[in-house]
Amino acid sequence: MEEMIVFGHKSPDTDTICSAIVMSDLQKRLGKNVKAVRLGELNKETEFALNYLNVEKPELVEELAEGQQVILVDHNEFAQSAKNIEKAKIKMVVDHHRICDFQTAEPLYYRAEPVGCTSTVLFKMYKENGLEVDKTIAGLMLSAIISDTLLLKSPTKTEEDEKAVKELAEIAGLDYETYGLEMLKAGTDLSDFSAEELIGLDCKECALNDKKAKVAQVNTADIAEMMTRKAEIEAAMNKDIEENNLDLFVFAITDIINSNSQAIVLGKNTEIFEKGFGKKLEENTAFLPGVVSRKKQILPVLQENA
Ligand code: MN
Ligand code: MN
Repeated sequence: MEEMIVFGHKSPDTDTICSAIVMSDLQKRLGKNVKAVRLGELNKETEFALNYLNVEKPELVEELAEGQQVILVDHNEFAQSAKNIEKAKIKMVVDHHRICDFQTAEPLYYRAEPVGCTSTVLFKMYKENGLEVDKTIAGLMLSAIISDTLLLKSPTKTEEDEKAVKELAEIAGLDYETYGLEMLKAGTDLSDFSAEELIGLDCKECALNDKKAKVAQVNTADIAEMMTRKAEIEAAMNKDIEENNLDLFVFAITDIINSNSQAIVLGKNTEIFEKGFGKKLEENTAFLPGVVSRKKQILPVLQENA
């Protein structure tokens, strides 16, 4: 049987990594030959989760061979996917994002649900197939949902995510609030990252009509501390804007304790941001009270105002 590889998006986050590992487990148990891989380095939050659960990180893949059979989790946009994705055979997609610029030559299994995390969908797929989830797999799905919903505090969270968290915590034998806060905090230690690395840790490229934008996000427990590095972050953003011809770059520093964000906004089309959020940028920055979700609270605002 030809091997399929499963991966999430570039700049991998905890959902992307955990859901790829979980999907490979699920498909193997359904008789398929599937291996989980990753498209980039792990962040510290994901590293914490894998260490805690004693799970090896997936192998790194830089680009796909022509005709390679692949399964996508946690993304569908080609701009966020592996190099040469357009030459691969996409056999399955399990996702929870908008569908954008997605096209295949052959029929496929495509499942997208408007829930807070890919793992919430995967957990349902185990149940639908009558498969029990073991402790480690439960821990991986739990970590993914905690990460994507910021411990159930993000507006992307649905009732299904909340139910899944409670059931998975039970199976994993974990107190999800204690474990979750520890895991999220592990991800906020950004002291040894350069500014270039910071803006690339969790960065999504997106088209806003004819404009090219990037929206990057980092989690912190202390916005002020991160803002002490504003000058070097801006320099890194400007370099990226120039090298990649970006029209807009939004860098969101999200306070996971108080659920707010501080945005640094650069590029020649910052008016999209200003119009969308009804705020004038001061020294390239604006405070966004209550904003924690790029997917639900930042990207749609930019898309509507571009
Ligand atoms: Mn993701
Ligand atoms: Mn996700």
